[in-house]
Amino acid sequence: MARSVLVTGGNRGIGLAIAEAFQAAGDKVAVTHRGSGAPDGLFGVQCDVTDPDQVSAAFDEVEAVHGRVEVLVSNAGITEDGLLLRMGEEQFGRVVDANLAGSYRVAKRAASSMLRNRSGRMIFISSVVGLSGGAGQANYAASKAGLVGLARSVARELGSRSITANVVAPGFVRTDMTEELSEQRRAEILGQVPMGRLADPAEVAGTVQFLASDAAAYVTGAVIPVDGGLGMGH
Ligand code: NDP
Repeated sequence: MARSVLVTGGNRGIGLAIAEAFQAAGDKVAVTHRGSGAPDGLFGVQCDVTDPDQVSAAFDEVEAVHGRVEVLVSNAGITEDGLLLRMGEEQFGRVVDANLAGSYRVAKRAASSMLRNRSGRMIFISSVVGLSGGAGQANYAASKAGLVGLARSVARELGSRSITANVVAPGFVRTDMTEELSEQRRAEILGQVPMGRLADPAEVAGTVQFLASDAAAYVTGAVIPVDGGLGMGH
């Protein structure tokens, strides 16, 4: 049966690939955007995840059209890199607010719907950097590591209601975010990836779909890397 799926930041990049994969499988998919609108064929709602009121309004809008959210993909995220000694309070806070507190906000709102349904799937898009750390990424890595604690706490709180919470930790994926990398940095990264290439966003979507599927009904609190082997051992 078609499920009500909400993907934050589903208007582009990895989120868009995830939204398209669910839509192609026949689900009712909604994506959030911050004013750019949704790509053709996708139902879009405006939402900045740093604003609790916008999160609440976006869920209300989606649920009025598609019914209670059954699958939440918390994907919206930003980077604002800099070395620790030069990283200001606000630079640290902005990234944690969008990536980690934003996920808390959408998870909390989704939980109230999922509890009423007595089932649900939450999938948080973290990063290999959340487990390994990244020079110049203290804010981003901390926010992505925090998602593991968030998801595992949700998994413990809501597991008895058939609600699962899992984390997907992509390596380097071809999107606007990685377009910003210098040629030198890109070459360094590829040198460390056993698969020898960046991921296609659709390759992340496949794992997200698995976690939302019946086949993954007993998988919760897991951190699944989709990183071409970059983070092996973490
Ligand atoms: P993009 O930069 O291509 O897209 C980011 C998305 O997040 C956009 O849809 C953007 O919306 C949205 N977004 C950012 N901030 C907010 C906010 N405050 N409220 C709502 N939406 C917001 O990123 P990717 O597709 O590359 O990344 C998606 C996720 O995957 C992120 O969480 C990222 O950290 C993670 N990731 C990416 C990797 C990569 O190699 N690309 C590797 C590992 C993890 P808008 O269009 O309005 O700006």
